[in-house]
Amino acid sequence: MRQVRKVYVLTVLLFGLAACSGPQDVRESRFIMGTLVQFTISGAEEDVALEAIRAAATEMQRIEDVFTIYGTQSNAVKAFNASLPGDVVALPDEVDSLLKTSIEVALQSDDAFTPAIGSLSILWGFSLPELPVTPPSELDVVNALVGVDTQLLAHEPKGWKRLNSQTKLDFGAIAKGYAIDRAIAVLREHGIGNAIVDAGGDLRAIGDHAGKPWRIGLRHPRKDEGTLGWFEASGDISIVTSGDYERFFVYQGKRYQHILDPQSGMPAERSSSATVITVGDTTMADAWSTALFVSGAEGLALLETRGMQGLLVDADGQMHATKLTLLPFHPTVQ
Ligand code: ADP
Ligand code: MG
Repeated sequence: MRQVRKVYVLTVLLFGLAACSGPQDVRESRFIMGTLVQFTISGAEEDVALEAIRAAATEMQRIEDVFTIYGTQSNAVKAFNASLPGDVVALPDEVDSLLKTSIEVALQSDDAFTPAIGSLSILWGFSLPELPVTPPSELDVVNALVGVDTQLLAHEPKGWKRLNSQTKLDFGAIAKGYAIDRAIAVLREHGIGNAIVDAGGDLRAIGDHAGKPWRIGLRHPRKDEGTLGWFEASGDISIVTSGDYERFFVYQGKRYQHILDPQSGMPAERSSSATVITVGDTTMADAWSTALFVSGAEGLALLETRGMQGLLVDADGQMHATKLTLLPFHPTVQ
C-alpha cells in the first residue's frame, strides 16, 4: 500500500516534467529509502548516463544502509541507539558530520526538527512496512518524549554518548536530502551537468533541459492528481516537500501522520504540506521542510532569514509563502 502511494505521488510529479521531455533524456528509477527514486539526465550519451545513474543509485543505497534505524542489518546508528547511556560510541565521519548539522538545525528551529526523535518515531511506527492502525498510549508518548532532547546527546573526543536510554537518533527527516546531494555529486563526477534526482517529491535539479529550465510540478496535498503549481528550475536548485498525505492513518475519524511535533509527541497539526527551496543544498532543504511543517506558517520568516524560501499549505488549506525569487513559480489556477 505504501509503495503504491509513493508511485502515485511520483506520477503526478512526472506529469509536470513530461511536458518537456525530449528524446535525448535518459530516465531510470530505483526503489531506495522507502521511495521510488527517479533519475532524469539530459544531454548526455546514453551509456555514460546509465553508468552515472548506476553509481548514484549505489551511493544512495549505501547511505540508506549507513543511516537507517530499521531492518536487521547492523550499523553505527543502531549501535548508538542500543548503547548503554554514558558509553561513548564511535560514529563514522559521515554520521558524525550529519549529526552535527542536524543538531545545528535543531537549535536554529527551536527543536521543530530534531535528530533525537528516534524513540518517538519508533513508538509511532510510521516507518515500518505496514502503517500503524492505532496511536500509542499517552503514557508511552510521555515516556518516549523524555529522550527527545539534543542536550542529551554528548560529543566526546572519541565519539558520542547518549545520556538517557530514551534518547535515540533518527535521521529520517534529513538523510534522504543528504543522499540526493551525494547522488548529484556522483553524477557530476561522471561528467553529468543536466539532471534531476527526485526521491518521491524531494529533489535537486542541476543544469537545464536542452537549454530550457526544468519544469517541476508541486503536488497538491489534498487533490491526488492536482498540483499547487509548477517551478522553472535551472542552475542548481533543491526543492523538498514534507507532506501529511503519504504516511498516515485514520483512527476514530482523526488523521494521524508521520511528522511528529517534538513538543507534544503527537503528529504535527499545523500543516498539510511544507516545501523548502534552496540553492543546491537538499540536506538543508530536507531538514528545514520537516521543521517548517512542524512550525506552520510562522516558520516561513525564520526560513527567509536563513536564505531559504518556502511555501506552506496550512491545516485549513490556506497557502502561505516567502518571496519566491530563487526560481519562477507558476501557481495552478484553482
Ligand atoms: P519524508 O520522509 O516523507 O520525506 P520528512 O523529511 O519530513 O518526510 O521526514 C519524516 C521522517 O522524519 C519521519 O518518518 C521520522 O522518521 C522523522 N521525523 C518525524 N518528525 C520529526 C521531527 N520533528 N524532527 C526530525 N525528524 C522527524
Ligand atoms: Mg525532511
